[in-house]
Amino acid sequence: MTTATVRKASVRQLTDAQLRGARALVRVDFNVPLDDRGHVMDDTRMRAALPTIEYLLSHGARVVLLSHLGRPKGRPEPQYSLGPVAKHLRELLPQKVVFSDSVDFPTLVKASKALTDASPILLVENTRFFPGEEKNDDALAGEFAQLGDLFVNDAFGAAHRAHASTEGVAKHLRPAVAGFLMERELDYLGRALNDPPRPFIAILGGAKISGKIDVIEAMLPKVDGLLIGGAMASTFFRAMGLETGTSLVEPDRIAMAKQLLDRAGARLTLPHDVAVAPSLDAPSHVVKRDAIPKNEAVYDIGPATAASFARAINTAKTVLWNGPMGVFEKAPFDSGTLAVAEAMAKATDHRATTIVGGGDSAAAVMQAGLDEHMTHVSTGGGASLEYLEGKVLPGVAALDDAA
Ligand code: ADP
Ligand code: MG
Repeated sequence: MTTATVRKASVRQLTDAQLRGARALVRVDFNVPLDDRGHVMDDTRMRAALPTIEYLLSHGARVVLLSHLGRPKGRPEPQYSLGPVAKHLRELLPQKVVFSDSVDFPTLVKASKALTDASPILLVENTRFFPGEEKNDDALAGEFAQLGDLFVNDAFGAAHRAHASTEGVAKHLRPAVAGFLMERELDYLGRALNDPPRPFIAILGGAKISGKIDVIEAMLPKVDGLLIGGAMASTFFRAMGLETGTSLVEPDRIAMAKQLLDRAGARLTLPHDVAVAPSLDAPSHVVKRDAIPKNEAVYDIGPATAASFARAINTAKTVLWNGPMGVFEKAPFDSGTLAVAEAMAKATDHRATTIVGGGDSAAAVMQAGLDEHMTHVSTGGGASLEYLEGKVLPGVAALDDAA
C-alpha cells in the first residue's frame, strides 16, 4: 500500500491528558528564503505551521521545534542559522520563543524541560548542523527524540526525505502524528489520487519532462484529461515529428514521449498554438505548433490553447496543476500560466476542487495574488511530486496509522 491509501493519526487524535504539560517535538519546514541582511523574505511556510503550534499550546503542551534551513554539511555554518527565523517567529506568535544555538544534547534536553506556560516554545538550531541528520543516523534520531514526549510531523515539504528529524525520530518517540498542515496536504493530494470528484483533469508543465515522467505515468490512468504545457510540450512535439526550433527539448526523452502519446490517446492534450521568439528578450509572436520557426524557441502556450485549457478547467470538478505553462518569470511569457491560474480560481468559485503543487507553480499563483482562490496550494514542491508519483513518503510512513 502507498501512503496515499493509509490514513495517518493526526494531532486531533491526541487526548488532552496526552498533551497537558507534555513536550511536543514538532518537525516543521522553516526552510524559508532569507535576504542578505538575514530577514525572512517569504514566511508562507512558517505561517502554514502556526495552526499546529497554536493547537498544541492551547491544549497545554510545550512546543519544541525542529527544522532544517538550506544545505549546511552536518556542522554549524552561521549563514544557515535559524536565528533569523526565531526572530521572525517572535513576530508571528504572542508567546515567548526561546532559541537555542547549541548542538549539545544535554543542554538542549535541559532547555526543553525548562519550558513553562509562560515560556512554552523552544526552537532548536538547524537540524542539518547535527552530523548524521541527512544519513538518518539512528543515534542522532534517538537524541532528537529526547527533546519531546511525543512527536508531531508538520513538515510535508521534507517528508520525502528519510532524515533523522523526519523519519528516524519517529522510531524512538510515540505517539508520532501528523500536524494540521501535513494532514491537509495528505487529504487533498490523497483524495485527488484516490477518489477525485470527476471530471478530474491534471495540468502539467514546467521545464523538464525528465523530472515529471513518473507523474505523467502515474496520473494518466487516473485522470479524465491531461493537459500539457511548458517546455516539456516541446519534447512531445518532437515525438510527433514537428519542428521545435531552438526550444528546450530533451532528446533522450523523445522515445518515451512517443510511447506516452500512443498510450494516452485522446486523454492527453498538447498545445495547438505557442508563443515563440528568437530569444527571451526579443519580440514574440504566436504560431501554430506545426509552424515553429527553425531559429526560434517556444516560451509559452498560445492564446487559443490557453482558452481551450480554461474551458477544460471550467468543466472539471477536480483540477490538479503542477508546472508553469511557460517562462512565467518574464512577460509576456507569463500569459499562459496566468490564464490557467485565473481559470482555476474561477473553477474554485464554482465549487471545483483546485490543487496547485510545485514550487514554481505555487510562486506563480502567489505572484498573481490568486493563492487564496485555490482550494489548496501545496507547500511541498519535491514532496508533492513524489506523492503524486505514488511513492511512499518516508516521513509520512513513519507516523502512527489512524485508529
Ligand atoms: P514546478 O516548480 O512548479 O514543479 P518546474 O520547476 O518543473 O515547475 O518548472 C518551472 C520552470 O519551467 C520555470 O522556471 C519556467 O521558466 C520554466 N519553463 C516553463 N516553460 C518553459 C519553456 N517553454 N521554455 C523554457 N523554460 C520553461
Ligand atoms: Mg521548480
